[in-house]
Amino acid sequence: MTQITLALSKGRIFEETLPLLAAAGITPSESPESSRKLILATNRPDVRLIIVRASDVPTYVQYGAADLGIAGKDVLIEHGGEGLYQPVDLDIAKCRMMVATRVGYDYQAAVRRGARLRVATKYVNTARLHFAEKGVHVDLIKLYGSMELAPLVGLADVIVDLVSSGGTLKANDLVAVEEILLISSRLVVNQASLKLKHDVLQPIIEAFRSAVVQ
Ligand code: ATP
Ligand code: MG
Repeated sequence: MTQITLALSKGRIFEETLPLLAAAGITPSESPESSRKLILATNRPDVRLIIVRASDVPTYVQYGAADLGIAGKDVLIEHGGEGLYQPVDLDIAKCRMMVATRVGYDYQAAVRRGARLRVATKYVNTARLHFAEKGVHVDLIKLYGSMELAPLVGLADVIVDLVSSGGTLKANDLVAVEEILLISSRLVVNQASLKLKHDVLQPIIEAFRSAVVQ
């Protein structure tokens, strides 16, 4: 029997992937929220799930430790996508990559002046590309979380972060001033697995594709 390993992260991606898994005839045997196990069995003896950090999903799939996985576009851009086939945009975990500043900071004027901006972010590759395309000089400051704090304590002029409702920005007197790109999650597949396990993987990929809400 050909074994298939699917890499997922806990939280919103796991929750929003459940209906897609169901469409492929896959039901996890337990929830990663209540279980501490990192390898979860499913109703299908040939399919197992591994639970990893969202930003680690492309790495597990790239090296073939997982045959396929689900990862946000934000994560895929930072990873680079090497060794990954990205057949389906799943249209889940949707949000926007934005530039945000303190309320009252005149971002447009700073850009017009040609000021050198200090940018704090977890998404350094995305931010570097965005400001290079605009011709804005930046000093990038890498953070691992709570980006909203950086402009409030003078660590940075602006942040680049994911925004959905804007509630966290608002609660911290920040405002989104520019959209960089729309984010959703994609199905990613190891390129070698796709060839070697084609007969088992292709129906799963097709089930995901047809289950994507139009
Ligand atoms: P960790 O929580 O382990 O530090 P993370 O914050 O990247 O990692 P999640 O919060 O589960 O993990 O986010 C997983 C993916 O969901 C992100 O990579 C992104 O594509 C998407 N996402 C992040 N924030 C939101 C949001 N507020 N609304 C919708 N989708 C989001
Ligand atoms: Mg998060």
